[in-house]
Amino acid sequence: MKMEKIILTGDRPTGKLHIGHYVGSLRRRVVLQNSGEYDKVLIMIADAQALTDNADNPGKVRDNIIEVALDYLACGLDPNKSTLFIQSMIPELCELTFYYMNLVSVARLQRNPTVKTEIKMRGFADESIPVGFFTYPISQAADITAFKATTVPVGIDQAPMIEQCVEIVRRFNNAYGETLVEPKILLPDNQACMRLPGTDGKAKMSKSLGNCIYLSEEADSLIQKVRSMYTDPTHIKVTDPGKLEGNVVFTYLDAFCKDSHFAAYLPEYNNLQELKDHYTRGGLGDMKVKKFLGQILEEELAPIRERRKEFAKDPAAVYEILRKGSIAAREIAAKTLDDVKDAMRINYFK
Ligand code: ATP
Ligand code: MG
Repeated sequence: MKMEKIILTGDRPTGKLHIGHYVGSLRRRVVLQNSGEYDKVLIMIADAQALTDNADNPGKVRDNIIEVALDYLACGLDPNKSTLFIQSMIPELCELTFYYMNLVSVARLQRNPTVKTEIKMRGFADESIPVGFFTYPISQAADITAFKATTVPVGIDQAPMIEQCVEIVRRFNNAYGETLVEPKILLPDNQACMRLPGTDGKAKMSKSLGNCIYLSEEADSLIQKVRSMYTDPTHIKVTDPGKLEGNVVFTYLDAFCKDSHFAAYLPEYNNLQELKDHYTRGGLGDMKVKKFLGQILEEELAPIRERRKEFAKDPAAVYEILRKGSIAAREIAAKTLDDVKDAMRINYFK
């Protein structure tokens, strides 16, 4: 039998989605969905995972389900082509997690670089790290393998998670026989999109750090955020030579700018390289570059914003999409859990 090509990916409902999500994964998902090359596209709102570090904030997680779903629909994820679902509606994922926990050591989890970074970011002291948070790479492996996903389009912060998932798959298949499918990560093809920095120049645009441009950002606040973006602090006078490294305005241009934007908004340059050369040479002010970036972002976000407003008029319809998607996703996960239990020989009544 030909192996099916299956996409699984998702987001935590901890806030509205931002342009980091968009360039890191969301934009790509829509292209893959529409390519017709995949047998299944599954997109998960990871509420159970969000609760691992928001245990005292269930309202936040609940309220953001609809926000994330609206962002999905606004960007072009289409429920007729993709299965949009909610993680906690699939209890089979917990059961898989429970069995996979036996295949992973505490030391291995402690070595996971993403877990390390996130523990620091969230300010957990060692003794107070929630067990659920610590083990979330295992539950993420359950999410991926439950759907026999072959392809996981994500930002680079997720690379250690996919690695850990592959290890679990191998250990499982070694112990119990070929059952699970090894996934492959699909990273953005553009370096700037791997881990888009925040508007403050900090390492990663993240809902939890408050340095985001949201997909639903209104035009005026978008322009405001672009204007106050971190650039090169040593580039004071227009005539000063400017640095591109760490200059988020140029990083965002790398992520969004096409040659056609120059023809539309800045015809004195042909392409981004010419603009960069002028900036590093000196004689090009930050404001001009920021205005250009603002125009590009507005062009990209305006249609998303408008579609989002349309979908937001009927929240019940959005929940219905998620309900149907969750039923469909559960069927797939239940079948995998069955295979897993057969392999583990815990199918006593069969
Ligand atoms: P939180 O702070 O709650 O973890 P987050 O902003 O990191 O939120 P996630 O839901 O953890 O978002 O990530 C969802 C997906 O978006 C993942 O595939 C992740 O790699 C990608 N992603 C998140 N932030 C960025 C970013 N700044 N650049 C590129 N990809 C990103
Ligand atoms: Mg995250």
